[in-house]
Amino acid sequence: MSYKYLLLDLDGTLLPMDMHEFLTAYLRAVSTRMAPYIAPDRFAKCLLASTQAMVENLDPRRTNADVFWDDFVGRTGLDQVEILPILERFYREEFPQLAPVTRPTPTARMVCTRAVEYGAELVIATNPIFPRMAIEERLRWAGIADFPFRLVTAYENMHFCKPQTHYYQQILDRLGAGPEQCLMAGNDPEEDLVAQDLGIRTYLVVDCLVSRPGGGFRRPDHRGRLTDLADFLAESVGRKKNAGAN
Ligand SMILES: [Mg+2]
Repeated sequence: MSYKYLLLDLDGTLLPMDMHEFLTAYLRAVSTRMAPYIAPDRFAKCLLASTQAMVENLDPRRTNADVFWDDFVGRTGLDQVEILPILERFYREEFPQLAPVTRPTPTARMVCTRAVEYGAELVIATNPIFPRMAIEERLRWAGIADFPFRLVTAYENMHFCKPQTHYYQQILDRLGAGPEQCLMAGNDPEEDLVAQDLGIRTYLVVDCLVSRPGGGFRRPDHRGRLTDLADFLAESVGRKKNAGAN
C-alpha cells in the first residue's frame, strides 16, 4: 500500500458532530441574520432547495457557487450583490459561535500529522456546498487549519458535489493523480464511499457514522474509529520507514 494522497472528509469525520444538530443550529442562525430581507422559514427552505440544485448539477462549466446563486436568486428574488456581503459578515461574525455544537478531538490533528509523516499530501474532501470561509472556520474548530493542504474543496472551486462521482473525478484531475494513489476517509457510506466507483480505496470512519436506511451496500476497504485511522497511518509510516531502511 502506498498512498500519495489522503482525502479527508471534515464534518463528522475530522470534526466530530451530530450533523442534524449542526445543520439545525446553522439554519436557525443564518435565517435569523437574513430576517430583515426574507422570512426565516422561507429563507431556510430556499437555501436547502438551492443547495439541492447544487448537489444535482452535472454541468462542468458552472461552479457550485454559480449554480447556487442562479437558483437562489431565481427562487427568492433577492439581489446577490446586496445579500452576499451580509452572508459573508454572517460567516465572519456569527458562524464561529456555532463551534460548541461540534465536538473537536485532538485525534484529527494526529491523523493529519501521521499522514504527513507518511509522506502523503492532504486533501480536505468536504462536500463543497459551503463558501471557503465557512470551511476554513471549521478547520480551525477541528484544530488543523495550519496544515499545508494540497486542496480544500469549496463551493467556489468545485463544479460538483458528493455523492456525484464527478466530484471525486475533479479531485483526481486537480491532483493529476490516479485513483490508486488516493485513500478517501469519511463517515458517510454513500457520499464518501462512492469514491470507490472510480477505484479509490476507502476508509469508513465510524465515530459519527451516517446511517443510510436501505443503503450501505458499499463495503469500505477499511473501517474503524478516527483513532484507528491514526494507528493505521502510523503502521504505514512504520512500514514505509522499514522499507526505506532495507
Ligand atoms: Mg461527513
